Amino acid sequence: MRLLFAIIIVVCPVLAAACAMPAQQTSTPAPKKIRLAVATFSHETCTFCPEPTGIAEWEFYGPPVRGDQVLKQNGYIRGFVDAAREYDNVELVGLLSPRDAKGGSSGSWVTEEAFDKYSNGIASDLKQAGPVDGIYLALHGAMAVTGVPKPEAELVRRVRKVAGKTPIFVTLDLHANEDRELSDVADAVFIIKRYPHYDAALQGERAARIMLRTIKGTYTPTMATRKPGVLTPSVFQGTGTSPSMEIMERARIWEERTKDAYVSVAYGFAYADVPDVGATVMVVTNKDPKLAERIADDMSGFIWKKREAFAGTTLPKTKEGVTKAIAEARAGHTPVVVADQSDRTGNSTWILAELVRQGAKNFCVTTISDEKAIAEIAAKAKVGDRIVVDVGGWAEELAGKPVKIDGTVEFLGPYQQFKTVAVLLFGDNNRVILTPDLDQVTDPGIFSALHIDLAKLDIIMLKSRVHFWRGFVEDGLAKAVVVIDAPGLGPADVTTIPYKNVPRDIYPLKR
Ligand SMILES: [Zn+2]
Repeated sequence: MRLLFAIIIVVCPVLAAACAMPAQQTSTPAPKKIRLAVATFSHETCTFCPEPTGIAEWEFYGPPVRGDQVLKQNGYIRGFVDAAREYDNVELVGLLSPRDAKGGSSGSWVTEEAFDKYSNGIASDLKQAGPVDGIYLALHGAMAVTGVPKPEAELVRRVRKVAGKTPIFVTLDLHANEDRELSDVADAVFIIKRYPHYDAALQGERAARIMLRTIKGTYTPTMATRKPGVLTPSVFQGTGTSPSMEIMERARIWEERTKDAYVSVAYGFAYADVPDVGATVMVVTNKDPKLAERIADDMSGFIWKKREAFAGTTLPKTKEGVTKAIAEARAGHTPVVVADQSDRTGNSTWILAELVRQGAKNFCVTTISDEKAIAEIAAKAKVGDRIVVDVGGWAEELAGKPVKIDGTVEFLGPYQQFKTVAVLLFGDNNRVILTPDLDQVTDPGIFSALHIDLAKLDIIMLKSRVHFWRGFVEDGLAKAVVVIDAPGLGPADVTTIPYKNVPRDIYPLKR
């Protein structure tokens, strides 16, 4: 007791001296740096397509990227990075992120080997990065992996093992197939609301802002997830038309009238044979699980109520659709944009063959994927030469037969990620553009790059379901649009799809 008394006497003068020190002599500690880790691993898998997506496909355009190369990516990550950099003392760490896989969404099942390599790679990069305050994963949600029923949830579980309680935020594409396995392991999930997907950066930005609030303690994410039990084909999911537009509008109304609520709906990707296929509602609230449940119930009920309209109407088949397109062109409504909504590998020839059969003129088929035909053209001819070559119809039975083109090589060279693409001019000023893989053309940039005068075309045929609206319709270019349901691996009627892993109690498989 006496000793303690003595210590107090000794310490007190020191404290008193410190308190009396002028302010300019105290050094305020630098604010703690906030470290955020960022990775992407994204695939929309068409499990009915023929070619699996293994390591060779994932690394066709180069090995996975890290560091700044991750942080420079467009879309979700650009939104996240731009928003995070508005705050002081935020340091961003790019973790291993595979590039786009060869063939994109024409690729079939991702191999377990590839999934293990990249998901474990992200987790081990995180470990090596040292302590972080938050982890952002820009995923798609429709990846299908052989032997891994719910890959995005499994990826987050692997990251969680390293992350402990550190917040993990996920953004997803509108075509995500998910369920509560993902929301059970991630802290917050935000999903794109527009199709065409205009708002990827916006969702990334949202993830950054809520993550920083979570780290600073002003937001505690609580989530509710629902599966309304509705399966729809991509072609009827465009958010420019109802009921898709009404569903997303309802989500936005909830967000705007309810503080701190984030209401997401993924419509799902019908061409993946996975157990969590179909629509998903995911709601994030600030420490209010009951509110999250209430909003999720409302949204789920609304989607269920709209199910019949959402399953779509009948689209014209090949012959009828081509007749309609030619009639629109003759009526002067040019350019007519024709969308082949069912081709998922890009090599289908049904519409090309029918355009030729019905004597259409001044059209451009954009594009047919055919690596072999390109190699044959490159081996036998140069620009300006005549060539006779079979194009398309090689990948699957539903793609139709190869079409013999007797024409002139108009272009042969690189374009974007492709080493060689070819343009053949044939018949009455008709063209076919050949790319090595599926190229879903969503804006007119390809035409000027390949020296094709878009303004002079009567009919532009695209391999796209809804994304083409972005660059061809919503910009006022197309004077008429004909969406054709040709035979293919992406039929508009999902009841014709030979699913093995999908629950049968989902509408419209069970009516
Ligand atoms: Zn999508």
